[in-house]
Amino acid sequence: MPCGRSPAWGTAGSSLISVPAGLILQRAGDVNGGCEIQRTDAKGAGVFATRSFQVGETVMVGVIDRELDHNHSHASQVSERRFVLHGGLITKVNHSCEPNCGVHLNASGAHDFVARQPIAAGQEITFDYAMRNYSVEYFAAHCQCGSPRCRDRITGWKDLPAERKADYRGFVAPYLTDIDNQRATKQVGQVARIEPVSPQQTGQILNVVRVATE
Ligand SMILES: [Zn+2]
Repeated sequence: MPCGRSPAWGTAGSSLISVPAGLILQRAGDVNGGCEIQRTDAKGAGVFATRSFQVGETVMVGVIDRELDHNHSHASQVSERRFVLHGGLITKVNHSCEPNCGVHLNASGAHDFVARQPIAAGQEITFDYAMRNYSVEYFAAHCQCGSPRCRDRITGWKDLPAERKADYRGFVAPYLTDIDNQRATKQVGQVARIEPVSPQQTGQILNVVRVATE
């Protein structure tokens, strides 16, 4: 899949899913699109920018290759219960705990990668797996991202500290913030359902306070 370009074959979800993976991989080799695959020292293959990108610019356009029945290291979670495999180079983009890209849901239901930091030509393109998957339990090894903010283990959204979630605002799969918002609403509802004390109980409490202060 060319980087930073819209799919040439349209935007309807059904037609994108039917695109043969071989065609996507062939197009992914187009280095003029803005990124290319390279070897890294510690992390195997990675995707690198071949030109600069500004904050907010689409770096890679996501295309869903196929549906998956479970979560794994290349699975993109696009809703609370739906996992897919993206076509092209997106599955080769490495995790970072301080990533230069974030996730945007595009019209086809796939994830675009959008620059959240300025990216220079030659720089590795990275995102945080927690921007995409609610739960990440399949990486036993220590994170190799090398960022000063590395959290050591590659975790999912559910294990991300609140301040990191705030840093990533606008750059994560929307279903993740929907889950948090639903839980917050539920908790507020539970607090609201606590029964108010009766006048008799209020009198008893006041008597206790009076005794305690005398
Ligand atoms: Zn890290």
